[in-house]
Amino acid sequence: MSSQNIIDNIGRKVFGEKYEEIRNWCITRNTPNMYHAIPKGKVANVFIVIEPLSRLIIRHEQETTDLTTIPTPLGYSVPAILNTKFQSGAVRRQLLSLLHEWFDRNKGKYLSELKKAGYSRDEYTCTMRPYMKQAKEKQAPEGFEGYCGECPNCLIFGYAVQEGAGYNVKSRVEGDLYVCVVSEEKATVTVTFNAVDDITKTTAMPGTETGALYEFRMVEAGMPFVGKIALKDTTLAELLLTLIAIARTTRIGGRVTHFGEIKIHIPAILFSNYEIGSGYELATRILGKYSSKAPTLEEVINEITAYVSQFKNQGIPVIDRELGNKLRHMNKSDVDMVVLQAWKDVLVLKKSLDKYVGKK
Ligand SMILES: [Zn+2]
Repeated sequence: MSSQNIIDNIGRKVFGEKYEEIRNWCITRNTPNMYHAIPKGKVANVFIVIEPLSRLIIRHEQETTDLTTIPTPLGYSVPAILNTKFQSGAVRRQLLSLLHEWFDRNKGKYLSELKKAGYSRDEYTCTMRPYMKQAKEKQAPEGFEGYCGECPNCLIFGYAVQEGAGYNVKSRVEGDLYVCVVSEEKATVTVTFNAVDDITKTTAMPGTETGALYEFRMVEAGMPFVGKIALKDTTLAELLLTLIAIARTTRIGGRVTHFGEIKIHIPAILFSNYEIGSGYELATRILGKYSSKAPTLEEVINEITAYVSQFKNQGIPVIDRELGNKLRHMNKSDVDMVVLQAWKDVLVLKKSLDKYVGKK
């Protein structure tokens, strides 16, 4: 079976009867061409619910003690997850580990195919280290110089280089604010932890008044967050790979050793030519309806379905609450083929960008 047929079969399993329409809507990128570097106005609006399966610690980098919240027009605040936490901190790391696992297991089989598509290395060393500064200062182990610039992680989520070292690539994944649909007061809990000293059998610590007691305000398990991620100008394989990484993201926030377990639901995608909908708009709509009691996950998913249905004339809506599960349960050989095709697709993009910027 040709690789296109394999991807067709996988796409059909995920999108069902909408598959043909979506395949035709997606970008095709078979050979390098400057034209591929230009934005195409294809936006997959992916609506998600983040369901905490354990308590979450959601904080800004600056204010280390308190939870991130945002005000609403209803007169109270609600917890919110910033996109940097979700996209860079969680989904991108998920994709990177998926790619490393794939490469280690498959390089014997597929490295020559990747090289034929333009991959320049024998190993895969892409790591999240934004500016390659440490490599230049020789603090990094040889070969681990940060973003590699030739993998789906780099060419879907973007990367920056040091001045004069080529060009930056902008992310084709653009996130949102993920907003809790329950008020701050009802959605959070403050918990005190202690660390008992084995010698003195107390929490007393020299020089402190509170000793080894500390408090966290956390989001309670089960409180749903809603938001939307825009995936721009993707091929079918890039779309599937990004959705797999989103659906398989299982931790978020601070102290993920103990907290932060989540499940991602993808109840709707709207394939359109512009960005539609926002987590904040969706959340305030739901909060307005469920002011006296917290909505259940089921009710939140129904609200998203109704919200996305309003825009059904603006593109191709896929409304399927099983999408997240289908992507999580996709079998390993299917995921392997998605990675291979997406990797070849991004290498064509890389060569196209080289042409566009006039790089030899
Ligand atoms: Zn990379």
